[in-house]
Amino acid sequence: MLSHLKSQALGLCRPANAPGTLPDKRFDSLLRIARGHFGVVDALFLPEAVSELWADTHEGRALSGLPDVFSLGRYFSAHDEVLVIPDTVADGRFRRPLHDTCNRPVRFLAGCRVITPAAESVGFFCLLDDAPRDMTEEDQAFLRDLARLAAEIIERDGTQARLEEEVNTLREGERRMTLAIAGSGTGIWDRDIQAGEIYYSAGWKAILGYTDAEISNRIEDSYTRIHPDDVDYVRAAIRAHFDQQTANYEVEHRIRCKDGRYKWISSRGRVVSRDADGTPLRMIGTTTDISAIRGMSERLQQTVDLLTNLTNEVPGLVFQYQRTPAGDSSFSYASAGIQDMYELTPEQVATNDAPVNRLIHPDDLPGYRMSFDVSAASLTPWHFEYRVWLPRQGLRWRQGDARPVRLADGSTLWHGFITDITERKRIEAELHEFATVDFLIQLPNRRHFMMQIEAELMKVQRALDRRSAVLMCDLDHFKLINDQWGHAVGDQALRHFAAIVRDQLSEWDLVGRVGGEEFAVVLSGKDIAQASAFAQQLQQRITEVPLRVGDQRIPLTVSVGVSAIMASDTSADAALSRSDEALYRAKKNGRNRIECY
Ligand code: GH3
Ligand code: MG
Ligand code: MG
Repeated sequence: MLSHLKSQALGLCRPANAPGTLPDKRFDSLLRIARGHFGVVDALFLPEAVSELWADTHEGRALSGLPDVFSLGRYFSAHDEVLVIPDTVADGRFRRPLHDTCNRPVRFLAGCRVITPAAESVGFFCLLDDAPRDMTEEDQAFLRDLARLAAEIIERDGTQARLEEEVNTLREGERRMTLAIAGSGTGIWDRDIQAGEIYYSAGWKAILGYTDAEISNRIEDSYTRIHPDDVDYVRAAIRAHFDQQTANYEVEHRIRCKDGRYKWISSRGRVVSRDADGTPLRMIGTTTDISAIRGMSERLQQTVDLLTNLTNEVPGLVFQYQRTPAGDSSFSYASAGIQDMYELTPEQVATNDAPVNRLIHPDDLPGYRMSFDVSAASLTPWHFEYRVWLPRQGLRWRQGDARPVRLADGSTLWHGFITDITERKRIEAELHEFATVDFLIQLPNRRHFMMQIEAELMKVQRALDRRSAVLMCDLDHFKLINDQWGHAVGDQALRHFAAIVRDQLSEWDLVGRVGGEEFAVVLSGKDIAQASAFAQQLQQRITEVPLRVGDQRIPLTVSVGVSAIMASDTSADAALSRSDEALYRAKKNGRNRIECY
């Protein structure tokens, strides 16, 4: 690649007497001085670049159309020694006659390498003549001086060209910055604090819809454009920066435009000079129109507020629950309802769900955890009903429902809600009791007892060594009690008997009211003999603890039929029928008796 100076020198590759103008008048006159002083046919500057180019492309062989003189470079030494060839014809180095740029024969040749002050060789200052001649030492020194002058001119031109290029680059940069600032909707201001004046760029005025001449530069006028609600805040920010409490002045506020409407702007700046006491003198900064961003963030905030209000107003807890592959779980979002549902705050569970787990009833916790495992593994909706023990509310029922999604990192994310189902659970329990318990005597009713005894039969059928006995108990002559004491006392007698039976049972035994004054008992794990012994105890107890009405004692007796539940029974009714048959015998044989099937 050609150096800057070499390419510069290319433009000077002209013989002094050639038509046209040289790029530099001084260079032109230098060549003319040389020609006049030495009385030669031609003086020319031969740029090194051209000489190198000639050597590179033509390997020293002259081609038609390219003057021979361009090949001269190779005869010069590396330094500024003057080359003198008194007669080219007599010189053995030239195999054929040499010609100049005007195709005249060259007999005499003298020249000196042009080396710039920066030690760069840029070409050769040459004298050519059509007749052989000599050159004195003095003339050689003069030629060397001319070559140095040429070098200085070239160097200076190079420096100037470089400076011009730098100035152009700077101007271009400045133009680009101006365009960029104008394009970004940013305005610039420059405030003379002591004079109370402020200069605004045209871009700044454009933000407010003003043309260049429409705004005063009094600083006090600028405060009148700020929204009344924002003035104090802006003044405080300026004051803090003047007092060097802040590194930068940075505010967002509303400002009144020419049309009277307010716009949101962001202003940033800094004091750039202060006097010796630190008093601010000059401050510069930029102003950006942020109405659009502000409007967008306001709309976004409204959406967020709406969602938050909705989730907070929904009874119960709306949540987002996350479980990582490592097993860490947390409520990444919890609505305000978490206070009601768990007596916790969203912050308490934001990184860890342990506070919730601690509240869950120990009996329900394994199921609660398992239900999430299943939902995560199969990505099926989560549904679970469980009890919590809360510091203020005590024991409460909760129901959770959520839908899971799998995230890219393998985590599972649920969105759902938790509601209070305590009341529903209470009603359900009540309904269950209505459906299963005999209201008068508070024992399982016939229907519920039948379900339980069927389950017992299945157990007997499943486990070969399991025994179970069924007792049918019927109060003797109960009709007489009703008749003699009235129906209410009859009821009382039924409750009295039920209490005695209940007392005798273990928690694995079953009992039910299967008829008006008939009770069935299933003794789990007992054979007929053991059941018979149980029946005797029951009879004994009734005798010992008679029913008392006022100061009256009403004696009660009971007849009992006993049989065993057998694995071969097709239904529990079969066992009950056998006990019934035994009971019938007990009645027939005189009552207050026990008969076994
Ligand atoms: P037995 O010794 O042969 O069993 O004679 P019993 O009178 O006990 O038998 P019976 O079947 O003739 O009469 C049963 C009576 O029980 C008839 C009915 O009025 C009475 N009874 C049935 N349910 C109730 C009840 O809920 N309350 C009252 N007070 N009496 C009832
Ligand atoms: Mg009876
Ligand atoms: Mg009866």
